[in-house]
Amino acid sequence: MLGGEQKARHGLFWLDLLWPKHCYHCQQPGSWLCHDGQQQLTANWHWRSLPIDHKSSLTAIIYCADYHQPLLNKLLKLTKYQRLTIAGRILAINLAEFIQQTIAEQLWFKQSLITAVPLSRQRLNWRGFNQAQLLVETIAKVNNCPTASYWRRQHRPPQAHLNKNARLTNLDQAFSWLKYSAGQNFIIIDDVVTTGTTLTEMANCLKQSGANEIRGLALAH
Ligand SMILES: [Zn+2]
Repeated sequence: MLGGEQKARHGLFWLDLLWPKHCYHCQQPGSWLCHDGQQQLTANWHWRSLPIDHKSSLTAIIYCADYHQPLLNKLLKLTKYQRLTIAGRILAINLAEFIQQTIAEQLWFKQSLITAVPLSRQRLNWRGFNQAQLLVETIAKVNNCPTASYWRRQHRPPQAHLNKNARLTNLDQAFSWLKYSAGQNFIIIDDVVTTGTTLTEMANCLKQSGANEIRGLALAH
């Protein structure tokens, strides 16, 4: 029987056959990420939280890495803008293993369903995959935890170039959660958290469906 971690790595094996591997860190052939690259990627990972409003539907927003760390930033951008699933999978496995080593055994983690920030249909068609969903699937495999996705997301302009107020207006009514979820705890997963507007908007939807505690968990800030 393959363990969760091995299963996740098994997916990478098939990609190895299709593309000869070159390290994303130093370009040396042989692996997607050499030992040195791996060290650099995760050396400074630890959980930090973003401040949240006391009226927020969110209990916490946590993240483990600095968005500007060069290698992490490169992998995130390759995933997001160049639609490279290999870079996305490297990040997903690293995050899943970091969760396994740190918070996976905590009660709040074990008692929550994990769910990904959804993409609108237009964006999903363009990118071909949802990187947050890739994170959720890998975290679930490695940590054997339950997932849920009953989201509907309307298409809106990207949040990236908007200020905080414009971000709020832009996401108004953008999300719906299509399930009654009384008493359920959730962890909403995203790759990058900036101001937390998206997570807050989604948490409001879950709260309206009866959810109990809702946390946001992002790879980077
Ligand atoms: Zn390297």
